[in-house]
Amino acid sequence: MAEEPQPKKWKGGEEQERSADDAMATRHKVWQAMAPFREGTRRPTPADIKRTTDKFFEANSSASVEKCKDALKELMTQTGCNKVADDALLNSAVAAMAPKDGTVNVPDFLLCWNNWMKLGERPRTALIVVDVQHDFIDGSLALRACDAKQDGAEVVPIINALHRTAPFDLVVITKDWHPRDHISFHPNLTQERLHSSETRNVKDIPLFAQVKLADGQTQTMWPAHCVQGSKGAELHKDLEVGNLDHTVVKGTNSMIDSYSAFFDNARKSKTPLSDLLRRYKIDDVYCCGLAYDREQQHECQ
Ligand SMILES: [Zn+2]
Repeated sequence: MAEEPQPKKWKGGEEQERSADDAMATRHKVWQAMAPFREGTRRPTPADIKRTTDKFFEANSSASVEKCKDALKELMTQTGCNKVADDALLNSAVAAMAPKDGTVNVPDFLLCWNNWMKLGERPRTALIVVDVQHDFIDGSLALRACDAKQDGAEVVPIINALHRTAPFDLVVITKDWHPRDHISFHPNLTQERLHSSETRNVKDIPLFAQVKLADGQTQTMWPAHCVQGSKGAELHKDLEVGNLDHTVVKGTNSMIDSYSAFFDNARKSKTPLSDLLRRYKIDDVYCCGLAYDREQQHECQ
């Protein structure tokens, strides 16, 4: 006869084990108890959490149940929540940390906070809509001219729906926004702009080729695109932009390209994007838009 399947064990603490069902029930209880704390709160950063554990856990290893509750209260205060955590919530949270001889160790505290209590918060979120501009949809760098023959316009209704239905705390629309004499434009390439180690003559360098520029940067030579104030630089006509949305432009310096909406390719100057995210105390960032291979990889990094 086949052996009875054993329930999966959840290991909370070095010596204690409990069944996965117990762990789920406790998790559910903590999650429910956290409900009043969910609205309008933000997530403490890893640095906030470290400061709190350093303060309440002796030699950064263990703390009494009481101190552990104080640490939880402090973290909840940092979420910006103005409700006071009651004893019932704190007791169920500490019970979930599997105290041993009246003390809780740091890993169990963190396990509880990171896996269970965090679910009770509502993180502050930002949507970054990357470069939904005509030149990338039906202009000089249209996606449909690429191998996959995708129609960039297809993303527009999807982004609109996302924008309308998900409660983002901040929406940022980015635009590639080049001066006419931008260094990334193939027609603007001159022998003087090339690095001394380039052996090719400028006339033999085709569109989309990679070159080494005088300042040592490697640059792909693009057709002219997203020229400031041109039709090609406009956002797609159907893209819905809210009154409160922020716009961040990039690639505005003639002498350097900028694939990221955060900083130029040499990382010498930055756009207002990182300050915006900080000002709005954003925890999680969602990116959507066009030109995934170049632009969005950079955003996500
Ligand atoms: Zn560009």
